[in-house]
Amino acid sequence: MNDDRSEQIDECCNSSCQAPIHAGQNVYKAGEDVYCSFRCVAEDLKDSKPETFII
Ligand SMILES: [Zn+2]
Repeated sequence: MNDDRSEQIDECCNSSCQAPIHAGQNVYKAGEDVYCSFRCVAEDLKDSKPETFII
């Protein structure tokens, strides 16, 4: 697969990850924060539950 046409729209809000997030990619959202994976959400939000997941 050649994905070089996909546009980077954000990056993972987990400070230890910061992976680029591209348009069309499956992401997880917690409020206004966007994460590349559930693991990143869980690591970043240990004490609070994310409000919304968009997968
Ligand atoms: Zn991440």
